[in-house]
Formats: sequence, structure tokens, C-alpha cells
Amino acid sequence: MKTSSVIFGLAVALAGPAWGQLARTADVKDIPLRNGVHMFMGAGGNVGVSVGDDGVVIVDTQFAEMVDRLTAAVKAISSKPITYALNTHWHFDHTGGNEGFGKAGVRIVAHENVFARMSTAQVMPAMNMKFDPSPAPALPVLTYSDNSTLRANGLAIQMIHLPAAHTDTDAMIVFKEANVVHTGDVYTRLTYPFVDTASGGTLRGMIKARKTILAATNADTQVIPGHGALSTPEELKASIAMLEEMEKRTTAAIRKGQTLEQFVASNPTKDFDATYAPRPDQGKVFATRAYEDLARVEKKK
Ligand SMILES: [Zn+2]
Repeated sequence: MKTSSVIFGLAVALAGPAWGQLARTADVKDIPLRNGVHMFMGAGGNVGVSVGDDGVVIVDTQFAEMVDRLTAAVKAISSKPITYALNTHWHFDHTGGNEGFGKAGVRIVAHENVFARMSTAQVMPAMNMKFDPSPAPALPVLTYSDNSTLRANGLAIQMIHLPAAHTDTDAMIVFKEANVVHTGDVYTRLTYPFVDTASGGTLRGMIKARKTILAATNADTQVIPGHGALSTPEELKASIAMLEEMEKRTTAAIRKGQTLEQFVASNPTKDFDATYAPRPDQGKVFATRAYEDLARVEKKK
């Protein structure tokens, strides 16, 4: 199976949780939020769910192996069919279930760059992964270039493109009347971000995107991060301060002529690791990626 080898590829590359194992066995945990909006946690990216009279709208589809368990979890909270699946970005741990849902008649909606990347071969050198073009049922049937709004279950469900952030395919999904926002991987809770430069992501774009998300919140907003437990605008705000400080330190080092090795050896993330590095090597990995990304930008000047 292609999907399985892809999942094992990630597991090996991350030397972290066994994603393949997780995808085959993970239970779906339902976290009810407001106005019929729920957050599902399972394996892969968090799933946003809107239930109500108009049918069920889901945001992201985790892995192919999760489709049956996600469908069962939806059935436990609604007798209505799943009508739409919105994708926050193209990555396999957020779109792996697209094919299964698409075959079941769920309409996939995403930014036009999600279609562009999923319909062609892709690489993720940071994780040593390659992807074949996705089969037709996995692809979005409806795309947008900037923003789009789906009205269902008494909610305006807004899809707002965030350019060149985690990837070039990102959108935040706002469940307007519920005051809930799904950030996709533009924001992950209490971890350093992964800026996928091979898919058009940039650190500065990610900082800007997190500020756009923060501006759409108030103190009561419930924040569904791409990965991790339910979050708050406070935590999002703190993560922006961390990224801005890291951007400043990295840019200063590059302009001073420090090499990547010297920069990483200076342990530039040390005061943030306790909060954002569940594993000790993650500060170094993030510092390396930040340097490589910003060095490329600085060289262009
Ligand atoms: Zn991602």
C-alpha cells in the first residue's frame, strides 16, 4: 500500500511516534466545542467538525486508515451524512482520508494550490519523502484562490488563504458564530513549527499568518491547532513572540556572517526549548531550518 509506506517513511524520518501504527489503531477522541462544532483527535492532524440540520462538515481527513473510525465518530454525534470535507493544506496527514471520503460522496474543498500539489508528484526532502499524484476521488472538487465561505448549520464557515506560511496551500478555517478557528499546521500547539520550504512555506510568512489568525480571535476563541490539544489565543500569541524572537536571532547571525554550524552550536533556542521542544533535538532542528530558510531570503537581497 502506498499510503502505508508513506506513513512508515514519516515515522522513520521523525524517529518519533509510529504514525502507521497510530493510523491503524488510534481511537477518535471527540472534544465538543460550541454551536455544534467539535474537535476530533486521532492520528495525524486534528479534525474540525460541524454538525447540524444541513449535514456534517469536516475539516481535514487524517489518514486513509482513519476514515472508518472518523465516520463512526461522526455517526455518534449526528444522524446526517458528511457533505463536505475542507482541507487546511495538502499534507498527507491532513488529506490521507480524502480518497475514502471522496468515494463516499463527500465533496472535498480546498485552496487551489492543494489541488495543484495533490494532482502532481511532490517531494518533502525534510522528511525524506516522495508522493505520487493523488487519485481523482482524493482531489478537491471545489477550489478558491483567496477566500471562500460555506454556509451550513447556522454558521459561516470561512476558508481564508494564508500565503507562503507552513506551505503555499494553507487556509485557516473560521467557524464564525461558534468563535472557533482551525489553524491547520500554520500553528501547532507547544511545538516548534515545521516550515515546509519545498512546498512554498517560509518562516516570515508563517509569522504573518499566525498574526492574521490572532487578529481573527478574541479572548473566548477556541483554537484548534494543526496538532496538539485545544489551544487559546494566549498560547498562539506567545508562539508568535517566540517565532519573532527566533527570526531576529537567526537574521542577526546570518548578517554577522555566522555559519549554520556556529549558529546551531550557539544553542539559539535554549530559552524556548522547555516550552516548545518535547524532544531535546527539536530546538536544533528548528534552528537549522530557520537558518536555511532565512539565509536563502537574505542571499536574494
Ligand atoms: Zn502539515
